[in-house]
Amino acid sequence: MPKFTKTSCSQCGREFGPGDEGFSHCHQHSHLDAAKPLARAAAERQATRMLKCECLDCGYIVRVTRKWIDAVGAPHCPRHGEMIVGGV
Ligand SMILES: [Zn+2]
Ligand SMILES: [Zn+2]
Repeated sequence: MPKFTKTSCSQCGREFGPGDEGFSHCHQHSHLDAAKPLARAAAERQATRMLKCECLDCGYIVRVTRKWIDAVGAPHCPRHGEMIVGGV
């Protein structure tokens, strides 16, 4: 368990998550700043995950990216029409 539930930088006042020690100079948290774009890229990867779509009538399943569901709507079962979007 980290010693503190919240740490902060006394130079810029920014707050960081749980940790064993705070920062007294900005260069001490520069590695955390550098990690941020990576976290954003991970979030974008999440957004392009395939979502499972299922026909409740026959169980027909397809996987489609969120992008296409937003753009054109849920896919259709060849027999029963619009399918429900059921997550991953
Ligand atoms: Zn700082
Ligand atoms: Zn169907």
